[in-house]
Amino acid sequence: MTCRDNKDLMMAYLDGELDDKQTKMLQEHLAQCTQCSKELEEFKSLKSMTDNIVLSEPEDQVWQRYWDNVYNRVERGIGWMLMSMAGVCLAVFGGFKMVECIVTDPSVSLFLKVALLVMILGLSILLISIMRERLYFWKHDRYRHVRR
Ligand SMILES: [Zn+2]
Repeated sequence: MTCRDNKDLMMAYLDGELDDKQTKMLQEHLAQCTQCSKELEEFKSLKSMTDNIVLSEPEDQVWQRYWDNVYNRVERGIGWMLMSMAGVCLAVFGGFKMVECIVTDPSVSLFLKVALLVMILGLSILLISIMRERLYFWKHDRYRHVRR
């Protein structure tokens, strides 16, 4: 085993990711190679330093990230709401225009007109249902964050 191989092993060793055989191999090499054992000490202090940075992260930074997250979620919720509402408005407007044309057209049979109106009714119910679901999830999401 060369010193180069040991460098990869050392990082894994510090993360506790080596199996018994690899640990033994590394320790045997460290016992006879001062350069590598010195390097391991450096890795060790570097690792504890970076671990400390993660642990002692300033609290307001954590809060900032928390609020960014809430903001993103609310923002996305509002985006969904607006898009759904605009979609419904467009569908209703377009639908009315189309229905107006068909219903006022004397060459279209009554059966087709009724079928069309029933289809529109079904579509409206579906859209309202989707809207309500969106609204529910949005509120649910918001309350969950405020309560925490
Ligand atoms: Zn070595």
